[in-house]
Amino acid sequence: MATKTDVLVVGGGIVGQVAAIEIASSGASTIVVDAGRDSGSTANAGSLHVQMQSRFMRLYPDQVPALEASLPLYCAAVREWDHLDKKYGPFGMVRNGGLMLAETVDQMEFLKAKAEREHRANVDVEILDRDALDEIAPWLGPQIIGAELCRNEGKLDPLAANLRLREEASRLGVQFAQDQITSIDERNGMAVAVGSTDTWHADRIVLAAAWGTGSLLSDLGLAMPTKPEPLHMNITEPCAAHIGHLVQHADRSITLKQLSGGQVVIGGGWPADDRRMARVPGVRCTSLVGNVALAARLVPSIGKVRVLRTWAGINTTIDGASTVGPVPNAKRIIVAVPGDAGYTLGPLVAKMAASFVTGSDQPFDAGAFSPARFAF
Ligand SMILES: Cc1cc2nc3c(=O)[nH]c(=O)nc-3n(C[C@H](O)[C@H](O)[C@H](O)COP(=O)(O)OP(=O)(O)OC[C@H]3O[C@@H](n4cnc5c(N)ncnc54)[C@H](O)[C@@H]3O)c2cc1C
Repeated sequence: MATKTDVLVVGGGIVGQVAAIEIASSGASTIVVDAGRDSGSTANAGSLHVQMQSRFMRLYPDQVPALEASLPLYCAAVREWDHLDKKYGPFGMVRNGGLMLAETVDQMEFLKAKAEREHRANVDVEILDRDALDEIAPWLGPQIIGAELCRNEGKLDPLAANLRLREEASRLGVQFAQDQITSIDERNGMAVAVGSTDTWHADRIVLAAAWGTGSLLSDLGLAMPTKPEPLHMNITEPCAAHIGHLVQHADRSITLKQLSGGQVVIGGGWPADDRRMARVPGVRCTSLVGNVALAARLVPSIGKVRVLRTWAGINTTIDGASTVGPVPNAKRIIVAVPGDAGYTLGPLVAKMAASFVTGSDQPFDAGAFSPARFAF
């Protein structure tokens, strides 16, 4: 088979969907093709992250400079979510800020130093002692001595957002297809994607395939190190805890937040089992127990609330920064892969990628995020 379209978007996660909406809005015929495998966008926790996550800093210290240089992108990305929520929502979005908690003096010192760096990048952060925390988060455990508050942060319901954005894309005439793309290149003035069931010809291809992107670029002179990272999630039954903020920890992996329906979503980077993409990643009992036990220590009132569901999904790591822009040797192919906390960054990265297709103004300068940095 051979199918022609103005624009082919490879990958139907948050980036692919928002890119397709932008591109179809300009009048171009647009097809989103997806392998139907693991999408971070359908597994994620709905945290809107801005401050540097302590987990990322511990696990990937070599990537922290790229993350830190990206802080203005994170600030702009949550504003983009505000815009999307107004236009297509509501997505259950709340922007009360995020707390990163400290239980020891060393953790407070870490947060103070981090907050100074973030403040220099114009992130809205403040260090709170326990008395100040009691004013806004009296539900925290007694051992918490303070926190970093990042006012830019928030939370939303990703299931609601994914559904509404998909409806909007369909309304604009975007078509969705299932195919595993095995190679892409440029031929005879067209961008061509070869899949397991079809060959796709397009004026432009937007490559928004997250963990699947790197292998598709290796024949085009780019060694982009996209790696799948299987992660664990939990959600509880509704409860009356009234947790208004996104909660993280200065030294332990956790994100915790309450949805508008009362359920508490608990995750933050506990590992799941990689099953080599053949099946969805497997849930680990140690992650389930460790993650919820830590949550109950930080917010004691949820200690007796039941976990309703637990699941795992594939996150993507690169080099600490997002990657957006045309492939240097094949300019009809535009890469769109967000950096860490890719659901937060997704819509803005998608709009930046779409602007290379439609010629509209860049919503954020993509210069620092070019795939050219992976050229070999
Ligand atoms: C458990 C978990 C919790 C998370 N929580 C948060 C959070 O709270 N906040 C936050 O900001 N981020 C979070 N993330 C990260 C975030 O979900 C992802 O970074 C983001 O959703 C990535 O969006 P995407 O559109 O780039 O890619 P994805 O949503 O991963 O979609 C990529 C798509 O590409 C398709 N694909 C790949 N290769 C091919 C190919 N060769 N051919 C065709 N299709 C292909 C896949 O099938 C997939 O559907 C979390 C991730 C996980 C796993």
